Amino acid sequence: MNTYDIIIVGSGIGGLTCAALLAKAGKSVLVLEAHDRPGGYAHGFKRKKYQFDGGVHLVSGCGPTGYQGGQVIYKLLQALGVGDELEFINADPFSHVYYPGFASALPQSVAAFVNTLAKHYPLQRQGLANLVRLCLQVTEEIALASEMALTDYDTASRLVPALCQYRKSTLAEVMAEYIDDPQLCSVFASNWPYLGLPPSKLSFIYWAAMLMGYMADGSYYCKGGFQNFADALVKGIRQHGGTVRLRSPVGKIIIEDKQVAGVMVNDTRFDAPVVVANADMRQTVFDLVGERHFPERYVQKINKMQHSVSIFVVYIATDLDLVQLNMAHESFYYRDFDHDRNFAQTLNGKVDWIGITVPTLLDPGLAPAGEHLLVLTALLPYSVKDSWQEAKQGYMDSIVDIAADYIPNLKQHINFIEGGSPATLHRYTQNYQGAAYGWDVIPCQIDPVRIRNASPVAGLYFAGHWCSPGSGIYGVSISGMQAAQHILGIKRPSELWQALL
Ligand SMILES: Cc1cc2nc3c(=O)[nH]c(=O)nc-3n(C[C@H](O)[C@H](O)[C@H](O)COP(=O)(O)OP(=O)(O)OC[C@H]3O[C@@H](n4cnc5c(N)ncnc54)[C@H](O)[C@@H]3O)c2cc1C
Repeated sequence: MNTYDIIIVGSGIGGLTCAALLAKAGKSVLVLEAHDRPGGYAHGFKRKKYQFDGGVHLVSGCGPTGYQGGQVIYKLLQALGVGDELEFINADPFSHVYYPGFASALPQSVAAFVNTLAKHYPLQRQGLANLVRLCLQVTEEIALASEMALTDYDTASRLVPALCQYRKSTLAEVMAEYIDDPQLCSVFASNWPYLGLPPSKLSFIYWAAMLMGYMADGSYYCKGGFQNFADALVKGIRQHGGTVRLRSPVGKIIIEDKQVAGVMVNDTRFDAPVVVANADMRQTVFDLVGERHFPERYVQKINKMQHSVSIFVVYIATDLDLVQLNMAHESFYYRDFDHDRNFAQTLNGKVDWIGITVPTLLDPGLAPAGEHLLVLTALLPYSVKDSWQEAKQGYMDSIVDIAADYIPNLKQHINFIEGGSPATLHRYTQNYQGAAYGWDVIPCQIDPVRIRNASPVAGLYFAGHWCSPGSGIYGVSISGMQAAQHILGIKRPSELWQALL
C-alpha cells in the first residue's frame, strides 16, 4: 500500500510543480510535507480577519500569452485542469522605487519601462533601451537553450551568443557597458532584493530573466493569497490520482544497493524507486541521504556553495487609507542610491532600507472593509544574531520606524502586527538559516554549473531553489518542470507540454 512511482519530499512550489506534472503524466505520486499546509514560502496564514502571505507577494509566468515559450505556471494550471479556479491579478506597475529626491514607477511593457526612466535620464535613453533589449535577448536565448541539447561551445556561441558572452557577468558589469549614469544603474537594479544580492554580485543572466518575467510576461498577485495557488496545485495532484500528506516530516531517504528505495516518516516506510527532494539541499545530502552515498567531489561542491540571506517580515493591518496616500502594491524605499552600501548594511544586521507590499490594493478581500494589510520586508542574514527571539522586537521596531517615515501616522493606526524573523522562516521551511532564495544566484552558481536536477545517486532528483535554474516562484516552477522532464525522459519543455496539455 505504501509503494509509489515517485515520492516528493516537501510541498514548496518546486515540489508541487514536479508532483503535479508527474501525476498528470500518469505516475503514482506521494508528496510528503512537514508543515500543516502546502506551499513552503508561498504559504499563507490567517490572523483575526486578515489573510496574510507568509512570503511571496508577486510572481510572473501566470499569464495566458507567454514570451518565447514562457508562462510555465499558466500552462501547469491548464494541464491540471485547475486554472479556472484561480485569479491572478495583474500588477502594473510592477514596482515603485524611492530614493532621496527620486521616485518612479516601474511599469510593465518594455516601451513603458524605457520611456518612464528615460524621462528622468533623457541622455541615457538609447543605452537603457539597448540594455533592456539585451535582457530580452537573454530571455529568448534561455528558452531556446532549454529546447536544444547544446553540448559544444561553438554551436552554443552561435545560437545563444548573449548567454555565452554574459554567463560570467554580474549585473553591475553589464549595466556599466550600457549606462553612464550610476544613479540610473541603481534605479534599473532597484528590484535586486528579489534575488537577495546587489548588482555587483548578482548574475546578469538570472537578473535579466527575472526582470523580463515581470516586465514583459507580466506581474501577478494571486487573488485570496498565494496559499490558494499552492492549494490549487494540491487539488490538481489529487485529481490526477496523487497523494499529498501534510504533517509528514521525512527523516530519512533510504538508499539500497546504491539506488533510492524510499523514505521514512517517523517509523513508517514509504517505498519508491524515485525521490524528488524539494527540501533544503544540505538537509537532503547530509541528514536525509548521508554524504557517504555521494561522490566526494559532489559533497565538496555542496560545502563550497554560498547560500542566500534571509528576510525579516513584519505583517501589519492598518485602518489608514493607503489609496489616498498613493501607496502601491510593491515598493522599495532606499535612503541611498549605492546598493553595495545598502547590502553592506544588510550584512551587518542593520535595517535602513525596506520593501513595502500592500496586497489589499489589488485584493481588498484580504482584510475587512476600511482596512489594509502592509507587509514590510528587510533582508537580513540569520547569522547576525545568536537569539532571534531576543532580537525580534528590536527589528520589528526599527522596520516600522522606517515605514513610518514614508507612511504618516502609521504607528497610531496599527490594528494588528506580527513579526517573522529568519528563525521563523527556518522553522516553517527548514531552509538552511532561513535562506530566502536557496543558493545565491551569483555567476558561478547559475546554469550550466548550478546543482543539477538529477543527482549522482540513482533515483534521487532535486526541485526547488537549491538547484537549477534558481530562486523565485517562476524559477522553482521551472525547476519542478525540469525534474519532471528528467524523470519522464523528456528532453524539451515543448514535448512535455505537447504530451500533457
Ligand atoms: C519572505 C519571502 C518573500 C518572497 N517573495 C517572493 C516573491 O514575491 N516572488 C517570488 O517569486 N519569490 C519570492 N520569494 C522566494 C520564493 O518564495 C522561493 O524561492 C520559493 O518559494 C522556494 O520554493 P521551493 O520549491 O524551493 O520550496 P520552499 O518554499 O523552500 O519549501 C520547501 C518545503 O519543503 C518542506 N520540507 C523541508 N524539509 C522537509 C522534510 N524533511 N520532510 C517534509 N517536508 C520538508 C518545507 O516544510 C517546505 O514546505 C520570497 C521568499 C521569502 C522568504
